[in-house]
Amino acid sequence: LTFDDGPGPYTEELLDILKEYDVRATFFVTYQFPEYFYLIKRMYKEGHSVGIHTYSHRYGRCYRDSASFFKDFNRIKRLIYDEIGVDVKIYRFPGGSSNIVYRKCSKDGELMKKLIPSIRNMGYQYFDWNVCPGDAMDVTKSKTIACSVVSECGLRNKSIVLLHDTQKHTVKAMKDILSQMLEQKYKFRTLKKESYTVHFKLDTTKKIKQNIDTIQKDTTSIVITDSTSNVPIKKDNDSLYRAKIQGVQQTLFQQLTSSFAHFFESF
Ligand SMILES: [Zn+2]
Repeated sequence: LTFDDGPGPYTEELLDILKEYDVRATFFVTYQFPEYFYLIKRMYKEGHSVGIHTYSHRYGRCYRDSASFFKDFNRIKRLIYDEIGVDVKIYRFPGGSSNIVYRKCSKDGELMKKLIPSIRNMGYQYFDWNVCPGDAMDVTKSKTIACSVVSECGLRNKSIVLLHDTQKHTVKAMKDILSQMLEQKYKFRTLKKESYTVHFKLDTTKKIKQNIDTIQKDTTSIVITDSTSNVPIKKDNDSLYRAKIQGVQQTLFQQLTSSFAHFFESF
């Protein structure tokens, strides 16, 4: 589980829930809410991973050019160090490492191709995601968020889930998510530099529309199984089947579009 954009007004409640369920997560932090920044000390003390996201979370500032990017990057990095005394080596690009986001506000259309090797040479690993319930976009119902996280995680062995501790409805969904996933014996790991990672492919912009069309056709032929028993779920008007197929479509669709949406949400 990864939580972006905080710490903010709901982070403390989230930390209480994670503690209650004895689950550790990863926080990619910002300085958007300075009055809550002290909470990263608690995150760290309680065994969560703290990673760099962005100081300002303003894409126009982060992605203007390389100098502007590193100014923002170094500011948040320094603040994290001052708070917990650790030079953290995990990072998440604002909006993910996709071209789609930063090209809207960058003078340099090839900026991401330069930033990725730069931060890796500096010793950082970056993490995109493969599960995105859209909690920072238009999905505000806690039940929908919980349902889509649980069903999307059932699609593969390892998932990196993008959530936002700046969203009240996300924190409200957490008990539901944790109780269901713990019951299904999921293991929650914090991200470290050497952890399993997900990286978006660059230069996918042109293919997106085409892929979405294909996916929407293809998912009707996917066999959906119950994630605990592996028994195929009947297609005929079964509400579980419909919920799951929706989850599958949402996952695939969001993987392709999440960067777009994350971008728009930030303005
Ligand atoms: Zn973000």
